[in-house]
Amino acid sequence: MSNNSLARSPAGPTSTGLVDRFGRSVDYIRLSVTDRCDFRCVYCMTEDMEFLPRKQILSLEELYVVAAAFVDLGVKKIRLTGGEPLVRSNVMSLIERLGELPGLEELLLTTNGAQLHKYALPLRHAGVNRVNISIDSLNSERFKRISRVGKLESVLNGIDAALDAGFDRIKLNSVIMRGYNDDEVLALTEYALSKNIDIAFIEEMPLGEASDHAREDTTCSNAWVRRVIEQKYKLRDVEEKTAGPSRYVRVEQYGHSRIGFISPVTHNFCEDCNRVRVTVEGRLLLCLGNEHSVDLRGILRSEEFTNALLKESIISAMDLKPEKHYFYDKSQPQPVRLMNMTGG
Ligand code: SAM
Ligand code: SF4
Repeated sequence: MSNNSLARSPAGPTSTGLVDRFGRSVDYIRLSVTDRCDFRCVYCMTEDMEFLPRKQILSLEELYVVAAAFVDLGVKKIRLTGGEPLVRSNVMSLIERLGELPGLEELLLTTNGAQLHKYALPLRHAGVNRVNISIDSLNSERFKRISRVGKLESVLNGIDAALDAGFDRIKLNSVIMRGYNDDEVLALTEYALSKNIDIAFIEEMPLGEASDHAREDTTCSNAWVRRVIEQKYKLRDVEEKTAGPSRYVRVEQYGHSRIGFISPVTHNFCEDCNRVRVTVEGRLLLCLGNEHSVDLRGILRSEEFTNALLKESIISAMDLKPEKHYFYDKSQPQPVRLMNMTGG
């Protein structure tokens, strides 16, 4: 089916919202726009990663149609991710269209920051409200060891460009790994405080096989990360509840920055889960830590495609959303997907 016929398909039913079997409302999607990346972070992918052939991935038009269907169904927030979203060719044309979607309240982006010096301002102008920028080390050699190919300087320049562009909020994401960067918790925290931006520490999740380490040896609990910060700073819990898995604190005397702890391994946050993911292959993934999914690409490319059919499929997929994930529980199936295939 051609891209034009996608755009012309009749509008489907409007809904009062997406709700799963456990009464959780889904109003947030993470949309992966590519599995490709200009980095090869050790916790995310293998060094000799093979990426998907072009015809297996959704076109920009198909990504737009999927996003618009979710927004019609009550989704208020879309995060664009990958892989590295800014390496997808012509991605700005998609972002500009998403920025104009009526009903969408927040358009967010997660990036490795390497190209933000070019893209920060156009992203802001296109309506991106907030950006998350991943950074795991402030030491150039370390940074290279973890990202395998990335240059620290380009990311630091990207963070400054994002600050200049005036996003509503900027958050750094850091995965702390024992033996890699566990001695940089304070340095990363202080860097975020000095820039008046947020930082979230993410526990390394066992998504796919990590090629150069056993994840059990490197995963650091966020309880440990927090204790490190507390040796120097007095932390107080943030009163306002944020949607999502981060638990935030503030540092006394540093009013603006928040420190988040995303603890999917040691702390199950599934009861509040309000999100689903769409991989770049068009797989609607109901949970990060499980394989329950629906093939939206098959629907988009079928002769019977209509927006109504797409929306009905999304509504019925909610029944497949599992109650929770079971990372490291050997009695339960573990995900085989790598994070760049999942959409972080
Ligand atoms: N390339 C972009 C970036 O790095 O921000 C967006 C995609 S990346 C998959 C999204 C987030 O997932 C990043 O913050 C990254 O650190 C995190 N991530 C990747 N693999 C992970 C893993 N196995 N466990 C925990 N976080 C992971
Ligand atoms: Fe690329 Fe992001 Fe994965 Fe690093 S974490 S390899 S930057 S997709």
